[in-house]
Amino acid sequence: MSEQKLYYYDSYVTEFQANIIDVIPYEDKYALILDKSYFYPESGGQPADIGTINDMEIVYVTEGQGSILHIVQKQAAAGPANCRINWKHRFDNMQQHTGQHILSACFYKLYDGETSSFHIGKDSSTIEISVESFDNDKVEKIEALANQIVFNNTAVTADIVDKKELAAFPLRKQPQVESNIRIISIEDCDCSPCGGTHVNRTGEIGLIKVKKIEKLKNSYKFEFVCGSRALKDYTYKNYLINKLGAHFSAPEQEIENAFFKSNEDYKNLQKQLSQLRTEVIHYDSQQLQQSAQDINGIKLISKIFENRDFNDVKLIAQAMVSNPSTLALLAAGTQSCQLIFARSENINVNMNDLLRTILPLLNGKGGGSPKSAQGGGTGDVAAALDSAVETLKSKLIALI
Ligand SMILES: [Zn+2]
Repeated sequence: MSEQKLYYYDSYVTEFQANIIDVIPYEDKYALILDKSYFYPESGGQPADIGTINDMEIVYVTEGQGSILHIVQKQAAAGPANCRINWKHRFDNMQQHTGQHILSACFYKLYDGETSSFHIGKDSSTIEISVESFDNDKVEKIEALANQIVFNNTAVTADIVDKKELAAFPLRKQPQVESNIRIISIEDCDCSPCGGTHVNRTGEIGLIKVKKIEKLKNSYKFEFVCGSRALKDYTYKNYLINKLGAHFSAPEQEIENAFFKSNEDYKNLQKQLSQLRTEVIHYDSQQLQQSAQDINGIKLISKIFENRDFNDVKLIAQAMVSNPSTLALLAAGTQSCQLIFARSENINVNMNDLLRTILPLLNGKGGGSPKSAQGGGTGDVAAALDSAVETLKSKLIALI
């Protein structure tokens, strides 16, 4: 099997000639089996290569039936294969993967942290490290050491050995296979078994940057980016900083203070606005109370607010019916309206029933309790409210 995996020996080959020796059905697609392949099948947290074979797009590469399976959409014939690997995608994976080896080695060296999982995602990668506590100071130390290894531009080499030869390698972790064990060595840094694709020298990785840390039950998860991904991330963050700097009219170093000050100002204004709103609602409810119709000692207020937030209208209604012997039939909006019907505790009239009698006039819907009901609809809201007032008057007279 390892004879087939030519990427074991050279991760930089992107074009090669091979032979399709078998084509087998694979789910709703087909798997091409070559006599040799540089295509990397997804495994160990590293995504599969992408590319073409005889100009057919390779949608996925995996291992199965003792072979590397190159998955294509359509049936193909056995014979010569002209193979191309997407280099941008391959090199990106090589940068992230070799960066992971270095980070894992740094966690192990500085904090005895062992890597329990690794995954290269679409935009960033993650590793899970078994450490009990971690903080930003430690992250900075990890990054400093990892990037120093990049700047040293040391060699990354691969050896395929058998079990007897393993003793010569200072392994960070033990291999999971018994034979054809591939050891990746990074000079002055790391030595671990791995079947992935790596760069030849650490300088090719570019910047290694930890973006986020997340505490898990017995470990920490670290999100990181290397190389082109780190540049993309820096570009975005620079764009964001410049945009925020322009927004706050502040130099880069003062953006953080400017943001928190602005946030504090906003909270204070919200508080003031809330106080003023309460005062206005109190004032409005008192004014309305004075314009109420008096029906045998019960105050009845009916009003349409053309341009008022319905939440305010509800608060006005609540404020009015907190007084005894008061009924409030209020609406917000004219054509399309929302309604609140509310009463004081001491009046025995069902507001829910009253609302339901006039909702058909507005093709509306709604409901509530005997004390307070709300709804909405579209139509002649003035006529609907008048109708509600008339119904109410007859009910009040009947109560006497
Ligand atoms: Zn590796």
